[in-house]
Amino acid sequence: MVITMSLSASAREVSEVIARIRSMGYDVHLSDDKGCTVIGAIGNGRPLDSKQFASLPGVQDVTQSKHPYKIASRDYHPDDIIIPLSGTQVGGPNLTLIAGPCSVESREQTIEIAHAVKEAGATALRGGAFKPRSSPYSFQGMGEEGLKHLAAAREATGLPIVTEVMESQLVPLVCQYADVLQIGTRNMQNYALLHAVGESQYPVLLKRGMSSTIEEWLMSAEYILSHGNMRVMLCERGIRTFETYTRNTFDINAIPVLKHISPLPVIADPSHAVGKSEYVESVSLAAIAAGADGLILEVHADPEHAASDGRQSLRPEQFAALVEKLRQLAPVVGKRVAEPVRAQGSGVRG
Ligand code: PEP
Ligand code: MN
Repeated sequence: MVITMSLSASAREVSEVIARIRSMGYDVHLSDDKGCTVIGAIGNGRPLDSKQFASLPGVQDVTQSKHPYKIASRDYHPDDIIIPLSGTQVGGPNLTLIAGPCSVESREQTIEIAHAVKEAGATALRGGAFKPRSSPYSFQGMGEEGLKHLAAAREATGLPIVTEVMESQLVPLVCQYADVLQIGTRNMQNYALLHAVGESQYPVLLKRGMSSTIEEWLMSAEYILSHGNMRVMLCERGIRTFETYTRNTFDINAIPVLKHISPLPVIADPSHAVGKSEYVESVSLAAIAAGADGLILEVHADPEHAASDGRQSLRPEQFAALVEKLRQLAPVVGKRVAEPVRAQGSGVRG
């Protein structure tokens, strides 16, 4: 249930509504809608009687929520959620460009690619140190050493780091180095992990499960949000279909659907969706035209020799050419390419 207080409601009237909701065993989520306090009642499934709230002093409107997710819905938080990230912002009018290799391979490679993507306009660096591979015989990532290389690249460029965390026990370690915790497609419904990243209060990039519905995805976001961590970005990375000419099928529909029902920023991952570098630019432009708040793209200086996902990786000059097109497209959809981070050094986390 969502209760919108009137603009003139006093602090005491707001507190009385909150106290009544809590006395019935519900939690309360507060947000603001153009100056009006919005009070979301989050409970255990027992219905609340809206009539007994409608007549309370200061109450303007009471609605029953239509969705099983609460905090992930615009009913509870009408305005776009904007996530501060090292001097830039994710969401709202900003286009966030996260770029870098699939896997961290060495310190030199990581620092070199960080400089290259930053120069082209990236606002964050991606790179996997812990890699979820379909085969146990494939490269599994450099682990903590890889995280150190990412931190060195942040030190050198000022770019914040987006990197995957695969298990809840590793959240404290990854938080020592990362600015954004990535939850991969295979872990979207790992509830212990969602709980741990929720508690961390770190920004989270939550990838869509490869066979998950939008509702299941938003319920996973709800696990993180319900720990008081509002810094969640949703990442569409393609879903499994019968099609075999691309690695996955990019669900362009998901972008306007999510933007309509949820205030969370939406980031598109065309690299994993199409799996072939020659299609990444077209799908990137389409995702931004459809309303995405940014992109996460695999970029590698030598894709033929990449430790993972070389087939879908752009070369730095291809990434730079795409950013130029995005600069032209952004104003058409009311966005701007975020200014790159200027500050150097590691004291720029936000
Ligand atoms: C990745 O980002 O390299 C990755 C493994 O992504 P996904 O979880 O979407 O497959
Ligand atoms: Mn990859």
